Amino acid sequence: MRAVCFHQHGGPEVLRYEEVAEPELAAGEVLVRVRACALNHLDIWGRQGLPHVRIPMPHICGSDVAGEVVGSSGSDVSAGRRVMLQPGISCGRCMACLSGKDNECPHYEVLGYLNHPGGYAEYVKVPVQNIISIPDEIDFVQAAAFPLTFLTAWHMLMTRAQLKRGEDVLVLAAGSGVGQAAVQIAFMHGARVFATAGSPEKLERARALGAYEVIDHHTQDIADEVRRLTNKRGVDVVIEHVGEATWTKSVRALARGGRLVTCGATTGGNGALDLVSLFARQLTLHGSYMGTKGELMRAVRFFFTGQLKPVVDRTFPLADAAEAHRRMEASGQFGKIVLEVP
Ligand SMILES: [Zn+2]
Repeated sequence: MRAVCFHQHGGPEVLRYEEVAEPELAAGEVLVRVRACALNHLDIWGRQGLPHVRIPMPHICGSDVAGEVVGSSGSDVSAGRRVMLQPGISCGRCMACLSGKDNECPHYEVLGYLNHPGGYAEYVKVPVQNIISIPDEIDFVQAAAFPLTFLTAWHMLMTRAQLKRGEDVLVLAAGSGVGQAAVQIAFMHGARVFATAGSPEKLERARALGAYEVIDHHTQDIADEVRRLTNKRGVDVVIEHVGEATWTKSVRALARGGRLVTCGATTGGNGALDLVSLFARQLTLHGSYMGTKGELMRAVRFFFTGQLKPVVDRTFPLADAAEAHRRMEASGQFGKIVLEVP
């Protein structure tokens, strides 16, 4: 089959469109013909390489996949079924998995990141419990743009932060994959959403997704603006995934009793914290990673009814994956960049 692989870490130029062997199915697995695969920041980290993370080479990226089932081993899933894939792969038999917290499984992995070849290919295999059927009216590009970021944002808002109707939520970088998902999920659950973005066009688009007030993070101080817009109170919940560049401002934007949830650190992992502020203002910090299979199954209901709509920035053919990575690294996008597999 044709696939985009990298044989060494580096810039976008290490992505090679080439011929590789098709995946071989083990019992309980399903083979899927990939029609679309969305990019995530994880793809860039995997390609660049991280200290203490060993990625087997050659490697195929891609965590967000939609396509058609072509075959299965040891299950009754019929060929031709249109599906999207759960990006989280877990053992299915440990205490965490059996408690419905499969994203806390010690063997948890994200499709396309470490040992499970991903969707930058004509075919991908996953355990049967990782497929979700999609209705005919949902196209593959839309379906591929949904899973990872909406799952991540759902887990952050609904499970970690326990969002309640009427609360104020600050979403950083509303033009990012997690950002556009978090704005929509928070708005749908009755929150008043404050969103940041880096250009007037992106701020307008954030408003269209449900943001009540918008803040330009290049020209305005996020914390000062939040305090001004909330009459000095601050917000109940901050959705943080930027890291070092925004951390201090995100903490300062919290109201007394506020909760900060972080799922990423794209600008770096160091963040200072004033412990006096933490206890005196009764703040709560939550780490969040992906989400559970059950949460994605719940979130897709709102996708299929049209209440949640993944924003697609633009599509590239699979062969142009390097070009797609360059666009993502330049941060020019609003929403998801998706590879189409002919
Ligand atoms: Zn497990």
